[in-house]
Amino acid sequence: MAEYVGRFAPSPTGPMHFGSLVAALASYQEARAAHGKWLVRLDDLDQPRTQPGAADQILRALEQLGFEWDGPLLVQSSRLERYHAVLDELTRRGLAYPCSCTRRELEDSALAIDGARIYPGTCRYGLAPGKAARAIRLRTHSAPIGFADAIQGWLEQRVEKEVGDFVLLRADGIIAYQLAVVLDDMDQGVTDVVRGADLLDSTARQIHLQRLLGARTPRYAHLPVALNASGEKLSKQTGARPLDLSEPKAELARARRFLGQGEEGWDLARVPRIRAIYAPG
Ligand code: GLU
Repeated sequence: MAEYVGRFAPSPTGPMHFGSLVAALASYQEARAAHGKWLVRLDDLDQPRTQPGAADQILRALEQLGFEWDGPLLVQSSRLERYHAVLDELTRRGLAYPCSCTRRELEDSALAIDGARIYPGTCRYGLAPGKAARAIRLRTHSAPIGFADAIQGWLEQRVEKEVGDFVLLRADGIIAYQLAVVLDDMDQGVTDVVRGADLLDSTARQIHLQRLLGARTPRYAHLPVALNASGEKLSKQTGARPLDLSEPKAELARARRFLGQGEEGWDLARVPRIRAIYAPG
């Protein structure tokens, strides 16, 4: 059987909630069904959003819920040297470039699907005289980048038009999620990414970066995300309630139902083929 390496990559911004349980459960079940490995990685680069103690809480929650991960935990903040080395390499190759644009200067650009501004390419051919670099962006192209998502079907995006050259190093000096996730998946030999559909619109960007780095593109399966009563994605920011770890069986059963599963077994084909599901309470 071909090797399967899956992963769960929570951001330690708060205790585990129902939305993160759904991603953990589906990625775990898929890896186990394939007799593969299931890795856990902490996406802790966004220090301003990181909450002290949350990483430990998440790991303890995973244990209490009965998840067992393979190999050592990977912590993104321990890999800054690697991320910066690749950033330098991309810059040397002329693929990444410094950008001086402020949020304010981009206010006239159209909104991308994820609510950020489509980058109009202002600094693509060099900084305007007197301007200082704030961020580093990756050059994109106009050809469509497509992928067959195992749940959501065929998707494609023209990254240059729909997103624009995107940020690899943020103005606050933090390595952007898009760069870190691609390098982590590549370095860990991840073959299968199972995660929330809120990241569907990031996938073409990640594939673009994988191609530039000569990395293999994993298979993708994007799960419906759970929405609260106001139609927002469950997250710490939207006040999602932490999982009740005194009732691990009940929480798992609820996540299984959300994913369209019966009481027993696991079948990805039963996961509803939509991007979001209302799941209050
Ligand atoms: N850390 C991201 C999140 O919690 C997941 C990143 C990924 O799975 O690629 O939403």
